[in-house]
Amino acid sequence: MSDTLALVVFVAIFALAAFLIVLPRFVRNREAKRATAATRAPAPPRPVAPPRPVAPPRPTSETGAPPAPVGEAPVEEVPAEPVRLRDRIGKTRASFAGLLGALRRGGKIDDESWDELEEALLLADVGMTTTEAVVEGVKARAAATGADAEALPALLRDEITERLECTATDRSLHHALDGPTVWLMVGVNGVGKTTTSAKLAKRELADGRRVLLAAADTFRAAAADQLAMWADRLGCAVVRGQDGGDPGAVVFDAMDAAIARDTDLVIVDTAGRLHTKVNLMNELEKLKRIIERRPGALQEVLLVLDASTGQNGLVQAREFAGAVDITGVVLTKLDGTAKGGVVLAIEDEFGVPVKLVGLGEGADDLIPFDPAEFAAALVE
Ligand code: GDP
Repeated sequence: MSDTLALVVFVAIFALAAFLIVLPRFVRNREAKRATAATRAPAPPRPVAPPRPVAPPRPTSETGAPPAPVGEAPVEEVPAEPVRLRDRIGKTRASFAGLLGALRRGGKIDDESWDELEEALLLADVGMTTTEAVVEGVKARAAATGADAEALPALLRDEITERLECTATDRSLHHALDGPTVWLMVGVNGVGKTTTSAKLAKRELADGRRVLLAAADTFRAAAADQLAMWADRLGCAVVRGQDGGDPGAVVFDAMDAAIARDTDLVIVDTAGRLHTKVNLMNELEKLKRIIERRPGALQEVLLVLDASTGQNGLVQAREFAGAVDITGVVLTKLDGTAKGGVVLAIEDEFGVPVKLVGLGEGADDLIPFDPAEFAAALVE
């Protein structure tokens, strides 16, 4: 027993001694670690992922590649500098330059000169009637100045500018003096109404206006999704209804929302396809009546036309022009076509100004139309 007791006492003394030796070391180590952590330099910032390369612009349907999938807003590009007309209408310019090249050889103007001029205009889809009128105008200028063939491109430029300037001196988009402004976008399916609505919204937001997009194209389900996606991307409000629902109800709600939220501008994207002209007329009339519950709100009815359809597009455009009073035309897809001359035919036929042109799929690819800039870009 006494042996056992002695053993227990011995073990206890040994454990106590070991504890007293180890404890100070443990405390020293912990303090040393804390001190090191406190004086260590802050961790370097985590490496930032390099910016994703900007996707190249999607080619238009005319260039052979498929258009953007329905319902998908295209990847937005940040252009290094403002979009310039002459840089984007390369196809129309190239076709003109080739044909007018012969005239630049100089010499006396003869029948062949006039044939070449006529051919250049027809190939650019200026259309027969307008082409004849333009050629007559250039002939009169040449007779008045006694110019030779070399001067013809410059005379053509002046003739085109003057003809276009005759249609309108004011190509701006108008705003109501008081309360929300409404711009109604009309045109057949696929011409670029939804994209143009978004482009316009971006411009107006940049000017400090509160913008609301109204998805009144309830026929095509994806149109409302596409518009909502743009609204989300641009940071503006959107009002949409049920798929296949009443577009009038969407416009009604949009107007109420605009008034309640003190919105400056409502852009209404409408359906491009209706079964008959009577349906189309009734529908647009109805939308107009709803908007005009607020007198003075409807400031623009913009007919959107696809330049790449050239003269064919004019046939459909006539339907819309017959159904509703158009205040201006937005000519889209001028970037991918050689048919830029259709601008002249549109103004001749409808007597309304082309106010804007679309030069690509990005939100910044919309510029005001300037006749002098256009004419110079064509022939110089
Ligand atoms: P909507 O049916 O009239 O609303 O037409 P969308 O706005 O859906 O446009 C149809 C297609 O045309 C889409 O792929 C657009 O990205 C494209 N698009 C619209 N405007 C332009 C333009 O100015 N240039 C080019 N290259 N494509 C455009």
